Amino acid sequence: MKKRLKTVFLFFAFILVTATTLSAYADKISDYEFEAGKSNLIVANRSAEKCIAITFDDGPHPQYTMQILDILDKYDAKATFFVIGENAEQYRDIVKEEYDRGHEIGNHTYTHPDLKKISASQFLDEIQKTRDIIEDITGEAPVLFRPPGGYLSNSIVSELEQMDGIAVLWSWRQDTRDWACPSVNCIVSSVLKNLKDGDIILFHDYNVNKSPTPEALEKILSELSDKGYKFVTVSELMSM
Ligand SMILES: [Zn+2]
Repeated sequence: MKKRLKTVFLFFAFILVTATTLSAYADKISDYEFEAGKSNLIVANRSAEKCIAITFDDGPHPQYTMQILDILDKYDAKATFFVIGENAEQYRDIVKEEYDRGHEIGNHTYTHPDLKKISASQFLDEIQKTRDIIEDITGEAPVLFRPPGGYLSNSIVSELEQMDGIAVLWSWRQDTRDWACPSVNCIVSSVLKNLKDGDIILFHDYNVNKSPTPEALEKILSELSDKGYKFVTVSELMSM
């Protein structure tokens, strides 16, 4: 009987956490009707003790991505790069480098369109083209997809399901907004202050201005390594 009560309690705790987390994304996924317990939308894995998944969107970038790769190596950290197809085509060697150094490559569309404004067939085309480019470079088709701006709708999620794709967002308060070039200290303190086990942190490795990301990343990795954290890919985080 006790065990049953515990199961019921855990079930409701799960629903509560899910609802709280999703209300945090209400502006992002307002067109997506979330179904509790569904495993095709990832924001964190709270059972991954002392593990963090660091993610980078919009690359590769000819300068910043290589810098970031060297910093990750220094701390034996693995990360996930959600690449834009157009950029991957232009910097194929860098995508190969990401893959060869043990990082995960995810799909971030071909042209980074506003998903609210494109048709279902355009969406499929964006995904398919990028998937083909990544597979051509690495020999492996990506499973993970991150929607530009974090926008999801029912049709996007069901298209993804048909392709066995999984949508990955990020954890509550772990959007660094580094693309807008806040100070290094601002990024570092916000990530560290809000950090929970199993978080997914959102960075960008592409920036047209002077990026604070490499320096912030180095400080965060140094601090968290000292505290015994491990840095894993999103797929690794979800398998824990
Ligand atoms: Zn993006």
